Amino acid sequence: MEESHGGDKARSRLCCICNQRRPALRRPKTLQQICRECFYVVFEEEIHRVIVDNKLFKSGERIAIGASGGKDSTVLAYVMSELNRRHNYGLDLFLLSVDEGITGYRDDSLETVKRNEVQYGLPLKVVSYKDLYGWTMDEIVKMIGLKNNCTFCGVFRRQALDRGAALLKVDKLATGHNADDIAETVLLNILRGDIARLSRCTSIITGEDGPIPRCKPFKYTYEKEIVMYAYFKKLDYFSTECIYSPNAYRGFAREFIKDLERIRPRAILDIIKSGEDFRIATSTKMPEQGTCQRCGYISSQKWCKACVLLEGLNRGLPKLGIGRTRGINGDRQKDDQQIGVKNLQSKACESLDF
Ligand code: SF4
Repeated sequence: MEESHGGDKARSRLCCICNQRRPALRRPKTLQQICRECFYVVFEEEIHRVIVDNKLFKSGERIAIGASGGKDSTVLAYVMSELNRRHNYGLDLFLLSVDEGITGYRDDSLETVKRNEVQYGLPLKVVSYKDLYGWTMDEIVKMIGLKNNCTFCGVFRRQALDRGAALLKVDKLATGHNADDIAETVLLNILRGDIARLSRCTSIITGEDGPIPRCKPFKYTYEKEIVMYAYFKKLDYFSTECIYSPNAYRGFAREFIKDLERIRPRAILDIIKSGEDFRIATSTKMPEQGTCQRCGYISSQKWCKACVLLEGLNRGLPKLGIGRTRGINGDRQKDDQQIGVKNLQSKACESLDF
């Protein structure tokens, strides 16, 4: 009896998947005690399943990976190139970075992406705000201060990624948004009553009617596991926060989700599930997709948001595209208020807008 008790105890100190090696971590998603080798396998296999089950890619496609040098996109680039080789996806992978022109932040993180280009053998394309819009974020912050800076940055980034993807002639853009980001965005969209965004923020593929579809292979991957994976694999990534980050509102939602996760790890997946199961009432008027009369980019208004903001900057009236004042798109303003398309002022950081 004693021997078998001792045997059970010894086994309980082994990885609960392979029952052979000592555990190296407690898996944040499931709380299982597992060894490093089994962690790599389950982590990569889950992402592979998400890619296959959701038909994210087709053989022969050219795929850009949005690369910021941070942990999410670095792990995404690494895992995607591994899976592409291992499972013969037949994809041509590229790294696509946006240089917002933020001294002391983006210049350093871009150095990381340049090293990733060599480490993973993936060609890199960098598009900059200065080249595309004639302004760096440093210059914009100098003009407008630290209020609304993320509005400009987020709107410009979204379009910059599409323009970079068009230059690379890719079929899709894969981004490193993880399960925590998506749960957080579901909450924020509920808090803001932003029905248009709520209805699309849990989709694993978005923008199929736009210039370049985007997909999120990490939709169900926990942030903590991404950090652990990067740490154990000793991946080269950049972890400093943007010097212009205010993040108050999103930061609050993030903390709330972390608290929930501590009590019940499944909370993150459950919030995503709730977001997926929301049904938008058919009586809710949604924005109609058109094209910007100025630059031709997709827009639900006369001018796209980037053109409105840029016009404001160039005319020395940076508030032109901010708030609910009547402006270039004033004729559409009332409609937008009705349908819950919030103006951009309330968005703390648009880097996670999807
Ligand atoms: Fe841009 Fe994000 Fe920095 Fe805001 S926090 S200025 S959106 S990089």
